[in-house]
Amino acid sequence: MHSLVISPLLVKQRAIGVLVLAKVAQGDLFAPSDAELLSVLSGQAAIAIENARLFEEIQHAYQGLQKLDHMKSEFINIAAHELRTPLGILLGYATILQEKAEGEVQEQLEIIVRNAMRLRSLIDDMLNLSHLEMGKPQIKLERIALRHIIDESVRDLSPLAESKGQNIEIKLPQDLPPIAADRQKLGLILANLLSNAVKFTPEGGRITVEAKSNEHEIWVSVSDTGIGIPPGEHEMIFERFYQVGDSLTRKQGGIGLGLAIAKGIVELCGGRIWVESQVGRGSTFTFSILRQQAADESRMANGDT
Ligand code: ADP
Repeated sequence: MHSLVISPLLVKQRAIGVLVLAKVAQGDLFAPSDAELLSVLSGQAAIAIENARLFEEIQHAYQGLQKLDHMKSEFINIAAHELRTPLGILLGYATILQEKAEGEVQEQLEIIVRNAMRLRSLIDDMLNLSHLEMGKPQIKLERIALRHIIDESVRDLSPLAESKGQNIEIKLPQDLPPIAADRQKLGLILANLLSNAVKFTPEGGRITVEAKSNEHEIWVSVSDTGIGIPPGEHEMIFERFYQVGDSLTRKQGGIGLGLAIAKGIVELCGGRIWVESQVGRGSTFTFSILRQQAADESRMANGDT
């Protein structure tokens, strides 16, 4: 080497490398201004190298977290499956015994059946969520009459609502167009919204299921005259395990998965879900679903057959 300039690559006073410029030709020396330029360059290079290293580190950590999250979902999935089978057997026999029993024994068996069913619904929530997280659910879009699914869901929830002196009203326009949806999953969304409405509405309250359509979508809403949700929590209640931390809500049971499941399914079908609510006055949960024709067009645009 005939002439050499060396500049350290410094990150927060720590040298992570050096930048070296060398001339081999005789009589051609670096000037002090070259050294200054190299020092500016090495400053920039050090920042770029450090950023690339940090980015790689974050990416690595993110991949690790994703793997852990997947393992967690898989664990929940296996545990829930293993719990569901023996619980199903217990529930089956308890129901048979309940039909045969009389008096006090029948009442005791009723408590067993009710709690076993509650446990089964929690396990089902865990299974549904882990399926969504692992990207497992197959959406089977078919042409459906929304009115039919709403009637069914309301019928299922009516005994519970009646036991609280609540009235569930259905208000649908006559000319509701057919939708493209997954029958079972749509039922699950409605069941979650309706059971929340019943749960968080005091005795004698009103619950209404409505639908309206525009060119591409149908909006379905479930309104109640219940306790309402504070404005700061309208987004958070759709997160897994989130529950409004008020003693009244906590009393109602549940583990905070229903809305996360509903949101996951709605979004998987290309829709949105949101809430409008006022504390002490009630809440309206609305979700959108594609109309049959719009769903066909979007599938064609995506190259699906
Ligand atoms: P869970 O009902 O099992 O607690 P969800 O995910 O269905 O779980 O709901 C999350 C939380 O959102 C509830 O715990 C409650 O605090 C709030 N919430 C949901 N629906 C209503 C409603 N209709 N009225 C008032 N609060 C509600």
